[in-house]
Amino acid sequence: MDSLAMLASLPCTALILITVGYLTVCAVSPFGRCRACHTTGRTRSRLGGIRRDCRHCAGTGLRIRYGRHIINHLHDEYEAGKR
Ligand SMILES: [Zn+2]
Repeated sequence: MDSLAMLASLPCTALILITVGYLTVCAVSPFGRCRACHTTGRTRSRLGGIRRDCRHCAGTGLRIRYGRHIINHLHDEYEAGKR
């Protein structure tokens, strides 16, 4: 492999490493912080400023990462295929 081919394969290798790293994070820590309420679990309504539970995280302050949704879907498909 010459140096030009090695240089051309570098972005693909970087993307693979980033993807595997993100999926590892999703497998180890499936929940991330809610961006809508900044982990407080409460948001203010537009009228009157009444504080109520965040509808994005149901008041927990946590949300499931997108990668974890993919892992859960793949797991469900695998379990459905075994039956
Ligand atoms: Zn929230």
